Amino acid sequence: MNATSSKARIGFIGLGIMGQSMAGHLLAAGHPLAVYNRSADKAAALVAKGATACATPAQVAQQSDVIITMVGYPSDVEQVWLGAEGVIAHARNALLIDMTTSSPALAKRLAEEAAKAGHQALDAPVSGGDVGAREARLSIMVGGEASAFEKALPVLQLMGANIVHMGGAGAGQHTKMSNQLVIASTIMGVCEGLAYARAAGLDSAALLKCIGGGAAGGFQLNVMGARIARDDFAPGFFIEHFLKDLGIALAEADNMGLELPGATLARKLYDELAAKGLGRLGTQALFQLYTAGG
Ligand code: NAP
Repeated sequence: MNATSSKARIGFIGLGIMGQSMAGHLLAAGHPLAVYNRSADKAAALVAKGATACATPAQVAQQSDVIITMVGYPSDVEQVWLGAEGVIAHARNALLIDMTTSSPALAKRLAEEAAKAGHQALDAPVSGGDVGAREARLSIMVGGEASAFEKALPVLQLMGANIVHMGGAGAGQHTKMSNQLVIASTIMGVCEGLAYARAAGLDSAALLKCIGGGAAGGFQLNVMGARIARDDFAPGFFIEHFLKDLGIALAEADNMGLELPGATLARKLYDELAAKGLGRLGTQALFQLYTAGG
């Protein structure tokens, strides 16, 4: 922390669907905030509320005690952390937190590289969707050293409601993969149930009110199912990001000698949607496959 403020100076990189809201909560809590996004226009709303726009990750790193990344893919994380203009090279004894859904192996490598440069690092991916980010109610699954977790906790609490230290570097990302595997089979079930109900002529709103309060209830049925019922396929969570996650999870499972038939089928179905050019729709657009031709 700097000497003139009791609030840690925070840097935030990646201001998309999730990062935009998450960074907003940090700013609203009074933290000095430096921001950077690949497409610069996405920084405008936060800058209007008092954040400082930066032209590179290096500029963010040079003025931050805590640096958070929420970019798209593992390759983006590598670039932002390890590039010549990246945060590891330009931060000063900082706490680095990657909240992107990325690979456990990369998280371990980043923790090692960060330590060599005198920083602490955490992998801290999230669950709870665009709604959870907006409402600061994310579940945050954290991997890394306990001392870094303790330091990060007050900042993470501004974005999440359920924050768990899962173990050493990579444990956060492994937890997120487990989460994505649960969602993979669940969203297929939601689409099947809703396709069946529609074919049977049931009213979607009444159906969700009824079964959403029973044993089938949960985020995928209650939130994504409601979007499906009103033919809203806009992205809260991009199909192309879910395919990235399924690829990571299936590769890790393969390394562990584990077969995952549900996730394997989900990847096949989502691959079909992506091949139709629908990868930038939300994951609930899987419903379109169940009703295509119907
Ligand atoms: P998004 O809207 O695509 O946001 C990612 C942002 O990162 C984009 O604005 C992108 O810039 C920026 N970015 C990418 N590479 C960058 C780089 N090298 N330097 C600077 N900025 C860079 O995606 P999102 O939905 O917020 O998801 C972010 C991450 O969280 C993903 O890993 C996703 O899997 C995960 N996640 C998403 C959800 C969800 O419900 N949406 C839930 C949990 C976890 P551009 O504007 O130029 O594309």
